[in-house]
Amino acid sequence: MDSKPPKLHIYFFPMMAYGHMIPIVDMARLFAGCGVRTTIILTPLNAAHLSKTIERDKELGLDMSIQLISFPSDEVGLPEGCENLSSITSPEMASKVYKATELLQQAFEKLLEEECPDCLVADVFFPWATEVASKFGIPRLVFHGTSAYALCIYHVMHRQQPYKNVESDSDFFTVPDLPDTIKLTRRQLPDHIRDGTENVLTRLIERVMEAEAASYGVVVNSFRELEPAYAEHYKKVIGRKVWHIGPVSLSNRDNEDKARRGNKTSIDEHECLNWLASKKPNSVLYVCFGSLSNFSSAQLLEIAMGLEASGQQFIWVVRKGKTKEEEEKEEWLPEAFEQRLEGKGLIIRGWAPQLLILNHEAVGGFMTHCGWNSMLEGVTEGVPMIAWPLFAEQFYNEKLVTDILRVGVAVGAQEWCRWPEDTKIYVMKEDLEKAVTQLMDGEEAEEIRSRAKALSAMAKKAVKKGGSSYSDVSDLLEELKLNRN
Ligand code: UDP
Repeated sequence: MDSKPPKLHIYFFPMMAYGHMIPIVDMARLFAGCGVRTTIILTPLNAAHLSKTIERDKELGLDMSIQLISFPSDEVGLPEGCENLSSITSPEMASKVYKATELLQQAFEKLLEEECPDCLVADVFFPWATEVASKFGIPRLVFHGTSAYALCIYHVMHRQQPYKNVESDSDFFTVPDLPDTIKLTRRQLPDHIRDGTENVLTRLIERVMEAEAASYGVVVNSFRELEPAYAEHYKKVIGRKVWHIGPVSLSNRDNEDKARRGNKTSIDEHECLNWLASKKPNSVLYVCFGSLSNFSSAQLLEIAMGLEASGQQFIWVVRKGKTKEEEEKEEWLPEAFEQRLEGKGLIIRGWAPQLLILNHEAVGGFMTHCGWNSMLEGVTEGVPMIAWPLFAEQFYNEKLVTDILRVGVAVGAQEWCRWPEDTKIYVMKEDLEKAVTQLMDGEEAEEIRSRAKALSAMAKKAVKKGGSSYSDVSDLLEELKLNRN
């Protein structure tokens, strides 16, 4: 009797950060939809946030499950309940989270001893996963959570250090040997590059580079048509096996999926949709800076004043303050701001149903920190963007939006900063107002919008049968089936 081979089984192990866990859950859903058995490794608190989504997937017949791994907060001196980069409030805490991720190796090996999948998709933050996978004889795919475009820049910066060729932090240098001319200043680079210091993160980056080279390949949440030259460059020049399988956010089927994505939303989804339904198409600016950003009260106040001065309708997502006291004081709001702007401006304190909002026809602009997921979600939904990069690779992404794809404008942020100074204002209200007016009403607004719509159509085509991402997913799964033990 012919017996069918068992399903391909893939483990997904994301970094404890929403910008990594959200696309990994989407990716697992995508693969499960192709008949793969998927298991997502999560720490207990993160699992509590994501389990509803995964439960729904299961109810709808997908083979998805969660495998818990405990997070060693205690061992590294993090407070109990701190299992996610979004709950850290200082650089010292960030270092402790990175240390904790190193300690996960043993517990993870134990999981593999109990049940070994056919493949491991592990986050870039776990360089040790390559060695573990090889010990168990399975391929390890790296998930970086960013584009091939940014990965190419990372590689050039790491190997050639072009920022050493300029005299001051504000002089522009060109990132060499890339398909486009990308100009940056040292101020737009991470602190450790600027001051050349070594720390937990720089040591991690070294290990990440080595582990990536030794891994089976890389899965990228992007689509080839978005960055054809970089998809080629990453493969041919950097020499990685790479599969473009996104945008994975398109694996969310309906409003319920979109509203449940990630954290629990701080606004009722129906209230949010009703508010948007009362607005004309393309008339609302959505302002959100991801899951990790920190702004001082002074900077938030400046944003509030800039938004009001622009005269545009907006939804503004403000991550809660660091302490309860700061939250309650709300020094960052001008007097009677919300009363004055009732019906015109909606503030969401906490977590917004971002996909649901970007997907709404009333939304005509997105002010974003250029986190890769947010940017790709903006592209996928065809929403023109205002780029306000803060840290990580966001200054690279800004150039992609404004200069290469030309689907947005820059607000004019100049300085990479993960932990902003209390009283410093990084972007002035006048600059914010100017960028908002330029994007929502300016002369080039229509051209930007039509380019954004064209990219959105390409994104949606890429994931359909016969599309580039659809083919990459099929090719990858075929290869994994052929290679399995
Ligand atoms: N997100 C959301 N609601 C929020 C803030 C963020 O749904 O209020 C989602 C957003 O859609 C994206 C992810 O969280 O999928 C953030 O990832 P990104 O790479 O944009 O930024 P990061 O948070 O990693 O800086």
